[in-house]
Amino acid sequence: MSFKSSSTRCEFCGAEVTSLTALGSRFCDGCKEKYNEFLCDRCGQRVVHNRHFVFELQTTCSNCQMRDKIKQLSPEHRENIMAYVRIGHRIRAIKEAHKYFPIFREAVDAVLTLEEELKQQ
Ligand SMILES: [Zn+2]
Ligand SMILES: [Zn+2]
Repeated sequence: MSFKSSSTRCEFCGAEVTSLTALGSRFCDGCKEKYNEFLCDRCGQRVVHNRHFVFELQTTCSNCQMRDKIKQLSPEHRENIMAYVRIGHRIRAIKEAHKYFPIFREAVDAVLTLEEELKQQ
């Protein structure tokens, strides 16, 4: 495979790239070891995982996983969060979401996802 000179650098660390990944991305040999790359089986977006932090094999991106988790909320709990999302009160929405998502980061993600859904309506 041949490269243009501008595209022979690893997208992570800038090291020389000897071959593209199966998905056509520029990872150097070291980063190929370090990162796992796949396409989400729902939305098709490319996901890159650091192998050192993600151990379980995943086929779905974090956005789609979060949408699933939100679907699992009871309509009442979802509505409690949405009430704050609708009035743009992000902090209160996150506090509310935190009751149902014990991991704070997930509570934040849930609110951001719900904000996105509201925009798309
Ligand atoms: Zn690299
Ligand atoms: Zn996805």
